[in-house]
Amino acid sequence: MTAVADPRAVASARFTAAVDGGADDWDRAGHIPGAVIRKLAGHGLLCADVPAEFGGPGMTMAELGELTAHVGALCSSLRSLMTSQGMVAWAVRKLGDPRQQGYLRALTTGSTAAVAFSEAGAGSDLSAMATTVTPVGDRVEVSGTKVWVTGAGYADHVLVFGRCGDGGAAVVVPADAPGVTVTRVADPLGCRAAGHAEVRLDRVSLPAAEHLLGGAGMPLQWLATSVLTYGRLSVAWGCVGMLRGCVAAAARHASTREQFGKALAEHQLVGRHIAQLYVAEQSATRLCEHAARTWDEGSPEQIVAAVAAKHLAATEAARGAASAVQVLASAGATDGHVVARAYRDAKLMEIIEGSSEISQLLLAQHALARWT
Ligand code: FAD
Repeated sequence: MTAVADPRAVASARFTAAVDGGADDWDRAGHIPGAVIRKLAGHGLLCADVPAEFGGPGMTMAELGELTAHVGALCSSLRSLMTSQGMVAWAVRKLGDPRQQGYLRALTTGSTAAVAFSEAGAGSDLSAMATTVTPVGDRVEVSGTKVWVTGAGYADHVLVFGRCGDGGAAVVVPADAPGVTVTRVADPLGCRAAGHAEVRLDRVSLPAAEHLLGGAGMPLQWLATSVLTYGRLSVAWGCVGMLRGCVAAAARHASTREQFGKALAEHQLVGRHIAQLYVAEQSATRLCEHAARTWDEGSPEQIVAAVAAKHLAATEAARGAASAVQVLASAGATDGHVVARAYRDAKLMEIIEGSSEISQLLLAQHALARWT
């Protein structure tokens, strides 16, 4: 009998081969080679939950989560591109009409996409968004400036959220459409190769039937929450990956380097760092597994479960990466080391897809509603 290859194992192997130890070079250069991104996108691996009918691998969120953690351990910049592409694919599945869902085929065969909510005046408070989507006959006109759009430096399309009358709208904007200007963010603190960019939209006119997902004037908060929930889950799993990279590096170093005549790990204060890293990785994994299960079951709990998983995983990744640098000390204190990269990358995870403070506000609201 021929053994059937596990699709997640095949996908993980493809990512490992694509990165091929290059994450530190990409980080320093601030760039992932276009051929690497195209190849992974061409296998449908940047949005691996897209169903087979649209050419995707059709993974469950639980399977995609473990794959995302694998990529998060290899390279957070590449994992960030997965998060963005996955959010766009999910938005098309959730909001797009049957014709618009045809775009999913492009996303599983090499095309790339980014997602744009944030603006200079609308970071945590997306209700302050000023970008406008205006229906004009059978077209829509999009105007505004989006900031810090992950992956926009590489993307063929940007999913732009804006206000439309009293509600909101989501428009798939080709990056080469007249009126679009993409400007890379210079020298980001972390995820330096993730192609963060400002996207300026100057009266970009597009056919509505093709580009306006699901019609105009839907509640902006509803639009944002459905897509952000996917993003939060993805970021949370990426943080699990960083924690795994950090605990492995710290454990290896602590068991091989000796000071005061014995391995670092035998000094109890160093052992405590390793123990805390292990508990952080385990607890973040369990919360991510729970959130992925609620997503796969279509449970209404998925929204709060994703916020909780993202909040815990990002907080622990930032703290865990700092502990790992502490264990390695000078050996981990240069740009090219996995723990140094995690230290910079993990800090940003406490800001994106709802900062730690915004996550805590949402979790407090949920707890108060449930227990009072
Ligand atoms: P602000 O909203 O100005 O907040 C500043 C501080 O005040 C934060 O600590 C915040 O938590 C706190 N704060 C704000 N309001 C409250 C409150 N009510 N109570 C308590 N504390 C509060 N955006 C996109 O649209 N697409 C992307 O792909 C994307 N990728 C990103 C990638 C990176 C690496 C980064 C850094 C940002 C990215 N962003 C993206 C933008 C990101 O979503 C925003 O940075 C984030 O929402 C926070 O907004 P802000 O930076 O304007 O901070």
